[in-house]
This record gives sequence, structure tokens and C-alpha cells, in this order.
Amino acid sequence: MNIREFIDSLTPEQIEEGNKRQLEENRKVYEEFKAAYKKGICSLCTQPLDFFEESNPCFHWFLKPKGIKKKHFEKYLVQPIGFFQFDSYIRWIANLEVPLKNINDLKDEMNPAKITEYTVRYKNIEWSINIGKTDRQGHSNSKNADFPHFHLQMTVDGYVFLKFNDFHIPLSDQDVFMFRLVEEASDKVLWKNTYGAGMSILEDEEFLEEVDSLMKRTDDWDNAPFHTSTLIQMPEGETMSEETLENLFNESKETGTPVRHLIKRYYPQASIVTELRPGNSVPEISSRNKRK
Ligand SMILES: [Zn+2]
Ligand SMILES: [Zn+2]
Repeated sequence: MNIREFIDSLTPEQIEEGNKRQLEENRKVYEEFKAAYKKGICSLCTQPLDFFEESNPCFHWFLKPKGIKKKHFEKYLVQPIGFFQFDSYIRWIANLEVPLKNINDLKDEMNPAKITEYTVRYKNIEWSINIGKTDRQGHSNSKNADFPHFHLQMTVDGYVFLKFNDFHIPLSDQDVFMFRLVEEASDKVLWKNTYGAGMSILEDEEFLEEVDSLMKRTDDWDNAPFHTSTLIQMPEGETMSEETLENLFNESKETGTPVRHLIKRYYPQASIVTELRPGNSVPEISSRNKRK
């Protein structure tokens, strides 16, 4: 049976049951991860996050524990590490530092020829993932990369520590299956990370209103996760009073509620159009092949 037939053969009840189980499982793993993180411990290997043991490779090595060198990754990254688990690990830890703005996974900024390309920041570290179509298949004319793999760049304080071309990190059988699912049944399978959401939340219609309703104003422009600009229009012939506007701006300053949310209360007849954009502090996607 191919993947498509398998997906189509599932009943709505089986899908709901499967999703429910998956969400519950994710929640459990995430809660353990978060509780350990708060104690400075890695939930996977139970060692301190800033410590490493050569014989015990783990995702927390990517946090650059004291003394770790590139050569330690050379042995580690010849085996599959589980791409989707790794993806969760870096997204979760990034969101525990600051929600959303550490993760630039905007489709709009990705190279459309790639399967995926995104950048995740945690403190002074940035990881950039890069998977092209020939990476997923394996480079057929290459001796050391003719298997499905992904590429990773890691920078520390802006300096490259691991280069995209340093490693062809093998995809596991489960990874290959997941990528096939997402591709061959894209109408039914969504690759979504419950606790690992990034800026691509702005590209998700379902969440836009919710995101907007949770927003607070700030004068710290450089650190804001989002920038918004709003166009407010009154029906023809009507105007807003200067005094009301002044009160409104003051109230916004005092309470942190954006002006656009307050305006509805005073002028329900006004039409309000808001544009949400990623803020200045969101990392750029570090691309493997430079684009013009
Ligand atoms: Zn660990
Ligand atoms: Zn490659």
C-alpha cells in the first residue's frame, strides 16, 4: 500500500484518536523538557546542559557545552539523529527563552526550491536547517552523500561553528516516511509543532486574529517580535475628535493595549486594517545558496 492509500483508508475516528494520542504524548514530553530546562538539565540524557561526555552524544551538544569542539560532532553526525526530534528540541528551547521571535520559519522568506529552510536562535547561538530536494533523495553522484540527509549550520556569537557543508546528517527511516507523508498527502497531513511555533504563525490565517488579540504595545521597538501598522478609516463625512484620540493614546500608553484595539470602543463604525510583520529582532534565514 502506498502512503496516499494508507492515509485515505483511515476513518475520521481513527484520525481523531491518533491526533489525540499524539498531542497528549507531545504534551508529556514537552512538560518534562520544560521542567528539566528550568533546572539547567537536559531531559533526554539527564546531564547538565553545559556539560558533555564524549561517549554520550545528545541534542544538548548543540547548545555548545563547555569544551565541545567540531571534532566531537564528526562521530556523532554520521548516524541519523532524528530530524523531527531535533527540530522540536531547538524550537522548544528557543521558545523557552523568548516565544516566537527566535524562530524564522516564514515561508515567504524561504527559497521556494527547497523542501525547507529556516533559522532558530537561542541566546548567542543560531541553527539554520537546509533541506533541498536532492538532499532528501541523496546526491546520486556523490560518494559520501548518496543517502537522504539534511544540512545544518550553527553559529555562535555570529561566527560559524558548523558549516552547512561540514556534514550530511542522515535522515532516519522515520524522517523519510514523515517527509513523504507531508509531501504525498499534503491535504491531510500538516507538519506542525505545538510548542515550537515560529514567525510562520503570521502566515496561518487561523491564528492571525488570536495573535493580534494577544498583542501589547511596547516602546522597545528593537526587541518586539512583531511590527504592526494600522490604517483606520471613518465612514465618509465623519471624523474623530482630537480630544478622544488624545485620551485613547494615553490609555494605550498606560495599559499597553494597542490603540487599534481601543478604537473599536469609541468608534465602532471605523474600518480598521492592520498589517502584522516580523519585528527587527527576528533572525534572518541563513541560506545555503546565496540568492540575489
Ligand atoms: Zn542531553
Ligand atoms: Zn546535501
